[in-house]
Amino acid sequence: MNRKKALITGASRGIGKQIALLLAENGYSVGVNYLNSEEEAKQVCELIDQGGGSAVALQANVAEASDRKRMFDHFFEAFGEIDLLVNNAGITVFGAFLETKEEQWEELTNTDWKGAYFCAQAAASHMVEHGKSGVIVNITSIHQQCQFPEASVYGPTKAALDKFTKHAALELAPYGIRVNSIAPGCTKVRVDQEFTVRGKMLSSRIPLQRLAESEEVAEAVLYLSSDKAKYITGECLTIDGGALLPVLLDHRYP
Ligand code: NDP
Repeated sequence: MNRKKALITGASRGIGKQIALLLAENGYSVGVNYLNSEEEAKQVCELIDQGGGSAVALQANVAEASDRKRMFDHFFEAFGEIDLLVNNAGITVFGAFLETKEEQWEELTNTDWKGAYFCAQAAASHMVEHGKSGVIVNITSIHQQCQFPEASVYGPTKAALDKFTKHAALELAPYGIRVNSIAPGCTKVRVDQEFTVRGKMLSSRIPLQRLAESEEVAEAVLYLSSDKAKYITGECLTIDGGALLPVLLDHRYP
């Protein structure tokens, strides 16, 4: 079977793990990037192997150029080519603007934005060189479109990634490479999350009355990567249960 090859950054857990599992189920060989969670990344690969798929765990800090090079070299050694890059790795850190330290700004920006930018460049360069009509999907956030408190770094970082998606889509379209983003709202990445006080509060304020499942974000990645979306590029698919629809706080809430 001629499997397509996908590299997913930050795939040891959370949304990235579900993306890796779903893509593998749908015939992709998968590169499972992680930063620290080696055991978890290996478990993801084992699950994929057990399902008859093919996966390789790739340790790398996407914020570091030498790590990115090592990750892509290892990926190409394993699979030879790339059809799909999913820029999912991210750190979701919040803090008051007046207290933000430059190191915190750099860590978040370098991971969620610079890392994604240069991973996209590495993947696209290989696709162009090999005449491949590949796909890039960037995982952003509803924070790109609205202003939550204490998100003065995270929000603009995700907005930058979404804007970059459109620039990359424009420049890569002549090569047949499509670039899109997905903006999830509050997404369950731990089983107990919906039962916490915060989880219940968030669910009650979301029009569809629940958090998103990681699998639902993964389904969107699968769709945007498929030929069903072959005329879609430079777009952002928001998956938030309607969270961004209300313009004012609902009168039912204090
Ligand atoms: P998690 O915190 O559950 O997982 C983060 C993943 O990214 C892990 O695999 C982690 O690796 C990896 N990672 C973190 N930093 C780096 C780095 N420098 N280099 C390589 N890998 C790294 O995140 P989520 O699943 O919650 O989020 C995934 C993406 O979705 C993020 O971009 C996030 O901003 C976005 N998002 C999430 C939402 C949510 O509600 N969960 C909502 C909107 C957007 P390791 O395990 O080794 O630490």
